[in-house]
Amino acid sequence: MMTPSSFLDDNADIAAFRDSAGDFLGAVDQRMRTRALQEHPAGFDRNYWQALAAQGWFSILVPEDDGGMGLGLAEVCAVADQAGYHLLPEPFVDAGVQPLQLLALLPPGPLRTRLVEGMQAGTIVAGVAWQESAGQTEPETPATIAKREGGRLRLRGRKRFVQPAVDADGWLVWACFEGDDAILWLPATAPGASAESRCGVDGSVQGDIALDASLPGAEDAILAVGEPARRALRQANEAARIAQAAELAGIARRAFELTRQYLCDREQFGKPIGSFQALQHRLVDGWMQVELAAACLRDVLVQARAAGDDPAALARAASRAQARCGHAAAEMCRMAIQLHGAIGTTFEYDVGLYFRRALALSARLGNAAAHRRRFAGSDTALAGEASPAGPGRYESFPNDLDWEAMPEAEFRRMVRALFARHYPDARRHMPYRQSWAETRDWYMTLSRLGWLAPAWPKEHGGMGLPPDKLIAYIEESEAWGIARPPDQGLNMVGPILMRFGTDAQRARFLPKILSGEHVWTQGYSEPNAGSDLAAVRTEAVLDGDEFIVNGQKTWTTWGADGTHMFMLVRTDKTVKKQAGISFLLVDLKTPGITVRPIRNIADEQEFCEVFFDNVRVPRENLVGALNQGWTIAKALLGYERLFTGSPKHSQHTLHQVEKLARQRGLFADAVFRARFTELQLDTLDLGAAYAGFAQMAKRGEPIPPSISMLKIWSTETYERLALLLIEAADEYGGMRHHVATDEVDLHIVAPLFNALGAKIFAGSNEIQRNILAKAVLELPG
Ligand SMILES: Cc1cc2nc3c(=O)[nH]c(=O)nc-3n(C[C@H](O)[C@H](O)[C@H](O)COP(=O)(O)OP(=O)(O)OC[C@H]3O[C@@H](n4cnc5c(N)ncnc54)[C@H](O)[C@@H]3O)c2cc1C
Repeated sequence: MMTPSSFLDDNADIAAFRDSAGDFLGAVDQRMRTRALQEHPAGFDRNYWQALAAQGWFSILVPEDDGGMGLGLAEVCAVADQAGYHLLPEPFVDAGVQPLQLLALLPPGPLRTRLVEGMQAGTIVAGVAWQESAGQTEPETPATIAKREGGRLRLRGRKRFVQPAVDADGWLVWACFEGDDAILWLPATAPGASAESRCGVDGSVQGDIALDASLPGAEDAILAVGEPARRALRQANEAARIAQAAELAGIARRAFELTRQYLCDREQFGKPIGSFQALQHRLVDGWMQVELAAACLRDVLVQARAAGDDPAALARAASRAQARCGHAAAEMCRMAIQLHGAIGTTFEYDVGLYFRRALALSARLGNAAAHRRRFAGSDTALAGEASPAGPGRYESFPNDLDWEAMPEAEFRRMVRALFARHYPDARRHMPYRQSWAETRDWYMTLSRLGWLAPAWPKEHGGMGLPPDKLIAYIEESEAWGIARPPDQGLNMVGPILMRFGTDAQRARFLPKILSGEHVWTQGYSEPNAGSDLAAVRTEAVLDGDEFIVNGQKTWTTWGADGTHMFMLVRTDKTVKKQAGISFLLVDLKTPGITVRPIRNIADEQEFCEVFFDNVRVPRENLVGALNQGWTIAKALLGYERLFTGSPKHSQHTLHQVEKLARQRGLFADAVFRARFTELQLDTLDLGAAYAGFAQMAKRGEPIPPSISMLKIWSTETYERLALLLIEAADEYGGMRHHVATDEVDLHIVAPLFNALGAKIFAGSNEIQRNILAKAVLELPG
């Protein structure tokens, strides 16, 4: 089985860091330790804590000048991921990340040095006591007061959700000192500091600390005051959130793996339960959450690095990570229990441990809902669709430059300049699929400029763009809102002829695709061969040098505009169905062909049915060998799925919802805002997942079957957004055409109609789930 992605896979150094953490944690059974520590008053083992310290894990964020490693959040997340995966009972994030990040950011001084040294060595175990009420996501001015009293420092207040609480050596306390925010050190032995422990659902122990403490003097306790204290605490909290998100991602991944194994092993009705489609599809949905969490974290780590000193940017990144990973872990673990049946609900069984850890962790430092609210509250987060960057100043657009050598940013500027100069503004982001008549001018413009076939090799009249520039070209054209012309000649027949066709076929057909003389359509589906494509019955019987074709194709996009069709035909009925199929090229003007348009649900003319009645097709139009058409049909799939998985429709529809919400003042409605944010995050994570696959395509690597998740997530996110658009439009949600009034200026229903089709074509989403269950999750057949 392909192991689920981890956000660290792309970076060999960090992956090695993760693997060594995994080796260490995996050397003992952490699940046994977790069970054994359930009754322990502190919930963790100080001896084992020292062993973790010896690994250097508490030194990761500590600067080298302070004896630390001076590394970053990615390394911390690598360890946190493994802590989640192996179910480490010790509070790595609360005592090994948050306080050390906080101290690392505080001004130097002897107290800070002593604490940093002790915590790195594992001899001082401490937590950060900052929170004073449930649901608090920001360190507001604390109600806890530190005051000088007769040469001593008096500390009064109450801190909540502190971990570790029992058996800690002390806490870094957020308090108000002489009218300003401050961080001070409170040893657990100070008279008047008492921790009331509370058991976490996973066996961890946290607590409230009631403070009426007296400390020797301010000089021995205060670590920072004012802005440096505020900045450091915020940053430490965000670092802890991102690390905790990584721990949740590790939990989700492990819960998925355990469940997958159980589905393979457990038998009911005489077969493994993993062969039941209902369970396969549910597990695929859980796995997709695991993959989205990995993609989200990958992106968030980049954003966190780029955030630098911008606390708002770091907070957005952290909230995004917590929202996705908290959700993913909760979903996957709940599903794990359901898919295990009764045994999943027992105390003894492992999935329950993961479920309870997910529950406990996703409630700390703000749950997923709180982080969605916080994300929504940051104004800059409201940007459904980044408008494409400005075009460059180009007067001409040569099509034969040294593309390899050209920097990608410059190439993108050139592409945008070409669009700005030649593509009609009024035709950007058209609501429905455009006909040949509507897109012909653009097709011919590209043809004239020599920019029509960026993917084709130069020898066949293309631009020979390397994969990275090709992806950049496609992304730019999506961002510009270029309407897709009938492009099945360019994207399907052309590449197939280059790979499987003869020289004569290439010479005959390729130039006419480039000149716009031939418009190709895809003749795969039939009334009784949809998802089960190999059931095609349209028959082609050899008669001398010709095939005689009889039958019917249907759902043929651009059928009314097409001049030619590439089709799958049955040429042998006696063999296994996939083995008797051939790939044929047909001129639609041949006698015996009838094309009948079908109007789609939006009442637009999108596709056709095509009837073949004794149609004579020259034998030279057969591509590849007789009966080898199935191999050719399958060759198209990988890249097609990358493009059906592109985030463009979701991004654009999110932008439409945002525009409508602004027009109608809907962001003041908390319920609307929550739903918008959820979908905004779904779209961002779709973009992150897409970027992972696009990177593979850019490197020229084969696209793995896991690409199917993109098609599912992109079309289902698109549909959810389309539904929100309709709901947000109230009465306008029932209007057929573009609505332009003083309240609304949008086509409201078009995205939903498009999304309905998108979930079906190019392999329905159920078929994609079947593919994932089989080819990626390797569930039993
Ligand atoms: C907008 C649009 C454009 C299209 N353009 C073209 C085109 O240009 N050329 C072309 O050849 N075709 C085209 N198609 C057809 C498309 O490829 C088929 O519709 C698709 O393969 C599904 O086949 P079907 O419609 O017969 O549905 P069916 O296969 O009958 O499916 C019906 C339902 O059953 C589900 N189902 C079927 N089998 C399984 C299974 N094994 N497990 C679980 N669920 C299953 C499906 O997901 C679906 O929900 C287009 C379709 C649309 C909507």
